[in-house]
Amino acid sequence: MKNYKIGLLRGDGIGPEIVDSAVRVLKAVGEKYNIGFTFTPYLIGGAAIDACGIPLPQETVDGCLSSDSVLLGAVGGPKWDNLPGNVRPEKALLGIRAAMGLFTNLRPAKLYPALKDECPLRADIVANGFDIMIVRELTGGIYFGERGYREGKYGEEAYDTEAYSRMEIERIARVAFETARKRNKKLISIDKANVLETSRLWRKIVHEMAAEYPDVTCGDMLVDNAAMQLVRNPSQFDVVVTSNMFGDILSDEASQITGSIGMLPSASLGDTTRGLYEPIHGSAPDIAGQNKANPIATILSAAMMLLYAFDEKAASEAIVNAVDKVLNEGLRTADLARNGATPLTTTEMTDEIIKRL
Ligand code: NAD
Repeated sequence: MKNYKIGLLRGDGIGPEIVDSAVRVLKAVGEKYNIGFTFTPYLIGGAAIDACGIPLPQETVDGCLSSDSVLLGAVGGPKWDNLPGNVRPEKALLGIRAAMGLFTNLRPAKLYPALKDECPLRADIVANGFDIMIVRELTGGIYFGERGYREGKYGEEAYDTEAYSRMEIERIARVAFETARKRNKKLISIDKANVLETSRLWRKIVHEMAAEYPDVTCGDMLVDNAAMQLVRNPSQFDVVVTSNMFGDILSDEASQITGSIGMLPSASLGDTTRGLYEPIHGSAPDIAGQNKANPIATILSAAMMLLYAFDEKAASEAIVNAVDKVLNEGLRTADLARNGATPLTTTEMTDEIIKRL
C-alpha cells in the first residue's frame, strides 16, 4: 500500500476545523482506494506567533520540506492585526511559498450547476455552469521586479519594473500545457502583447511550446479582453495561463463569479510534485470555532492534492463526485443555505460527503 506523508498547517480561525474535515475525508477515501496517509501538524500564522513568537518557525519549514505534500487551512485574525508587518501571520504564507520553491498557482473557478443562484451573472450566461483553471505565475514579474523612488520629469515618482526570463515563462507554460492535457485540452494564454515587451516574449515562447503539445488547442487573449470575456461568456475557458499580476486580478474576478468563497480550492506548485494545497478563502474569524464553516474548499484542495501531487485520479474524482452529490441533493452549509433551509454544520457536511465517497 502506498503511504504519503502530509504536512498539516491548520493555522488560525476556521483553519483547524476545515483542515480536520479534509483529513477525515482523506482517511475515508484512502481506506476505499487502499492509500495510506501519515499526517503531521506544524504551527503557522497566529498559532505559531502565540507558541513561539514568529509566524513561520524553522521546524514548520523543515517539516513541510520533508513531507510529500502540504495542506493549509488559513492564517490571520484580529488578535494579531496590530503586530508589525514582519511578524504578522500572513508573512508566513510568503515565507512558506518561497521556502518550498512554489512558482505556480492553480486556481480553479467552477460554478456548480446546483449553485447557479449564487452566481452574480445573468442566468442565461451561466446556463451550463463553467469550470475554469487559472494557472498563475507566482514568483516573477512586477511583484518581484526592481522598484523604488526617484526624481522624475514631474518631481517625486515611484516605479516598479516587470521582467520575465525565458526559463520562468517556459516552466509556467509547461505546467499549463500539462494541466490542459489533464482537462479539456484547451489553453488560453493571457498577456498584454500589444503594449508590453515581457508579454511579447511570453507569447512567443508559448507559441514555440505549443508545437510540443499538438493535442492541446492553444490561443492568446489580451488581458483587458479576458477581463470582459470572463463575465460575458465564462464557459469558453478551460485552462488559462498568465503572469503574476494579471493572474492575481483575473483569479479573484473568476472566484467572484462563482459566488461562493467557501467552495474554491487552490494549489501552489514548484519543480517537485510536493505542492501546497489550500482553500482560497481566509481564516473567517467571524465564524471560527462555531462549527459553521463550509469545509468544501479545503476538501476539494485535498482532492487536488491527490490528483496533482500523487496522481491518484480515481480517489480524487471520488471526492469531487461526492461533493457534486451533496450539492445536487440540496445539502448546504450556512454560507449557502437559502429560503429558510436548515444549514448543515461543518461536521455534518463532512459526514455527508464521506457517506457519498
Ligand atoms: P475571509 O475569506 O476569511 O472571510 C470573508 C467572508 O467569507 C467572511 O464573512 C467569512 O465568514 C466568509 N467565509 C470565508 N470562508 C468561509 C467558509 N469556508 N465557510 C463559510 N464562510 C466563509 O476574508 P477576510 O475576512 O478578509 O480575512 C480574515 C482573515 O483571514 C484576515 O486575517 C486575513 O488576513 C486572513 N486571510 C488569510 C488568507 C490565507 O490564509 N490564505 C487568505 C485571505 C485572508
